[in-house]
Amino acid sequence: MKLATFAQDGQTKVGIVDEGNATLKVIEGATSMVDIISGKTPAKASGPDIALSQVKLLAPNPSPARNIFCVGKNYREHAKEFSNSGFEAGAVKGAEIDEFPAVFTKPASSVVGPDAEVNLHPQATSSVDYEAELAVVIGKSGRDIAKADAYNHIFGYTIINDVTARDRQRSHKQWFLGKALDTFCPMGPWLVTGDEVDPENLDVKCWVNQELRQNANTRDLIFDIPTLVATISAGLTLMPGDIISTGTPAGVGIGFNPPKFLRSGDVVTISISGLGSLTNTFR
Ligand code: MG
Repeated sequence: MKLATFAQDGQTKVGIVDEGNATLKVIEGATSMVDIISGKTPAKASGPDIALSQVKLLAPNPSPARNIFCVGKNYREHAKEFSNSGFEAGAVKGAEIDEFPAVFTKPASSVVGPDAEVNLHPQATSSVDYEAELAVVIGKSGRDIAKADAYNHIFGYTIINDVTARDRQRSHKQWFLGKALDTFCPMGPWLVTGDEVDPENLDVKCWVNQELRQNANTRDLIFDIPTLVATISAGLTLMPGDIISTGTPAGVGIGFNPPKFLRSGDVVTISISGLGSLTNTFR
């Protein structure tokens, strides 16, 4: 099932998208996607078919209750390109692959939806980069979740572009400031329930202005999804609607020499098998 949050007639609604991705039906009584995720409102749609072209899709969870959890350096080739780019503070040659997952967050305020414009913030940064990522959405709360139990806590999956200001990431020797800018977390186009995809075998592709830049498969994650859920939930209660973005493959802008940073008018599209496509224009 594909669940979308959308705006219609000035209201935010939740609906179920049809198999052909052409129409959706409203889930009456749902005030947010978390109502569905938490089971408060049954995922049953009713009423007429509404053409997707007639509504504005929002991020599946447009106002998360707290920060988005993100994982850095989770594909080998990307870990190497990042370390070799000169943009990783404290990079050590020969130690590109981490022993434990590197986790940081993006604030909920950075989330935008499909087709939303992403602000390049030229007063704050001159090195904006894209990162195509599979995002996991938690369905059942839990703390100290065992790897073997991890998938029981996952509701579904969506796409995130972990937009990054590389200069701020490097200069401040942390990741948050480079990842947290307003509009730096495009998410969507919808949330696909876990029964419909095999998250350990999904093609992840990213184009900038129709040039294929990233092309990988989630089977190449260094730290798999159960490991990420177990790591993040250790002593920290994950809640319905929490989001974990699993890291980006090689092919980001700093992987090129010279780097290919995003410029005004650039269009970035991310596709993940079974999850659809997420397109955003940078201004
Ligand atoms: Mg990332």
